[in-house]
This record gives sequence, structure tokens and C-alpha cells, in this order.
Amino acid sequence: MEEKQFICINCPMGCRLTVSLAEGQAVSVAGASCRRGEAYGRQEAVAPMRVLTCLMRPANREKPLSVKTSAPVPKELLFRCANQIYATHPQAPIPMGSVVIHDLCGTGADVLATQDLV
Ligand code: SF4
Repeated sequence: MEEKQFICINCPMGCRLTVSLAEGQAVSVAGASCRRGEAYGRQEAVAPMRVLTCLMRPANREKPLSVKTSAPVPKELLFRCANQIYATHPQAPIPMGSVVIHDLCGTGADVLATQDLV
């Protein structure tokens, strides 16, 4: 049986997780102090996901716009997702929380403005 070890990044406690895998499936998680950590360990061991935060360049402003994904996206798609964000130039004004890209790279996650750009 394979084992993978992680530090849980969901809260400051930073629990050390040991995930046991069989045939590519997580079968147990040791070391988690809560269910959230256990779920994180299972996901991280099989298909890691991350919320992507970055800057976009609006079409009609010099100031960049800070954005983030509305949900975690597969870690293996981070570069492709970032490239789509960099290649998109939304028109200001852009209110905080507005969707500037729908369904980023087919992940189902939207890209949201995290600031007002007037
Ligand atoms: S397992 Fe739970 S308590 Fe431990 S770091 Fe993760 S979220 Fe925090």
C-alpha cells in the first residue's frame, strides 16, 4: 500500500496527514483533527485542487485587477487557467465580486474580481 504525507493547509494547526492509497484511491487518512482535514487529505492525494489568485490587465485601465477563482481548480490546470486569465482583458468599471470569466478552462469555476476597479 502506498502512503503520501501532507501538511493540512486549511487552518493554522497544520496537522500532519498520512494518506494510504490502494490502486490510486485514498483508503484512509491519519493525523487529521477534523473532517475538513480528512477530506483535504483524500483530495490532495488523488487530485490536488487550488484556488487561483492572480492579476488581470483590463482593456481600458493601467491599473491591474486582482482576481480569484470562485472554487478550487485542478492543480494540473493552473498554468492553462492562468494563461486564459492573462489573455483576457475585461472592460472597466468592474465591481468587486463580478464574474470576469465564466467556466475557466472548462473547470466550472468562474473568475471573480476581488476589488472594485472604477
Ligand atoms: S485537519 Fe482540521 S484541524 Fe488539522 S489543520 Fe486541517 S483543518 Fe485544521
